[in-house]
Amino acid sequence: MPKKSQPVFVTKATLPAKEKFLELVSQVYDRAWLTNQGPLCAELEKQLKNTLASEYLILCSNGTLGLQLAIRALGLNGKKILTTPFTYVATLTALMWEGCEPVFVDIDSESLCMSPILTEKILAKDQDIAGIVPVHVYGNACDVYEFAELGRQYDIKILYDAAHAFGSKLNGKSLLTYGDAAICSFHATKLYHTVEGGCVIAHSPQVQEQLNLFRAFGHKGDEYLSLGINAKLSEMHAAMGLALLPEVPKLIDRRRNLANLYDNMLNIGKNELKKPKFAEGLEWNYAYYPIIFSSEKSLLKINNALQEKNIFCRRYFFPSLTKMPYIKDQSAPICEDIASRVLCLPFWPDMPVDIIQEISEIILKKL
Ligand SMILES: *Cc1c(COP(=O)(O)O)cnc(C)c1O
Repeated sequence: MPKKSQPVFVTKATLPAKEKFLELVSQVYDRAWLTNQGPLCAELEKQLKNTLASEYLILCSNGTLGLQLAIRALGLNGKKILTTPFTYVATLTALMWEGCEPVFVDIDSESLCMSPILTEKILAKDQDIAGIVPVHVYGNACDVYEFAELGRQYDIKILYDAAHAFGSKLNGKSLLTYGDAAICSFHATKLYHTVEGGCVIAHSPQVQEQLNLFRAFGHKGDEYLSLGINAKLSEMHAAMGLALLPEVPKLIDRRRNLANLYDNMLNIGKNELKKPKFAEGLEWNYAYYPIIFSSEKSLLKINNALQEKNIFCRRYFFPSLTKMPYIKDQSAPICEDIASRVLCLPFWPDMPVDIIQEISEIILKKL
């Protein structure tokens, strides 16, 4: 096959109908109210609360700052926190930026989410743990019921990094509504986005109030109430979010169809290729298309073959965060093993079927 003129990347940003976006931008022009919780941000917050059935939600400028605001609002800054090494690096850096001491808990080898069994082992031994930050990796659900039980038993806070989970539901409820708080990312590469952006979902008016204050320098008018930072979302970003939000159900439908197509074309279940095991009761959002090879050697051989054809997958999430240069003396053997053999294939809602076919053929030929 000849090399493609256009490279294929792991994803392609989804854009709403241009007229719809421009109409909202034109309203921003007319008002000349560009940021500081303008009407589009207020409207988007309202619509997200409705969509997620969550009363206490704040928008913010990105998911990373959302994590940092939530860490502070739950009083976890500077504390010892359990988290997963199988995630995007932002989960870890947000914790460390807030002065937390991260302790890694290995993952469940099937769900690829932080293991509740191993979490409890550490909690039972270490009284200093103040909270846990598990990740709903790829939009799959962590064992939220088991973690909630551990939260009660050990009196610790649970903050979910739900950056991948927009649109995923567990037992009929948005996955973003579990835990003491959760954050989502609305970065351009995510399933739903505001170009850059994110949100925090809390469960009390007090925490929401704190988040609001932290997001805007810690003051309300002339009243200076606490330390704060700038994590506000702009009206231009909210315009993108408002234009795209109604399309989310259709986008997830298309993702489901394309994922089924990949499953069939790759003969998943009839060869060495595996997928993560998704939680019972989960309505998955199909945020990514990860496949797990039997060895890193097999992954590298196939990734190279795809790159030769101008097709660029991503090794989400490699390496295991236990290997970061600023992490000392931690290990997580299951994560380190899986991270070395998992690959996210190119996947976006209006991906042409012939690219899925081409990728599948290259993979099957090289297995
Ligand atoms: C994308 C992502 C983030 C960070 O979100 P930004 O909006 O890019 O700051 C955090 N955690 C995970 C797991 C992510 O994938």
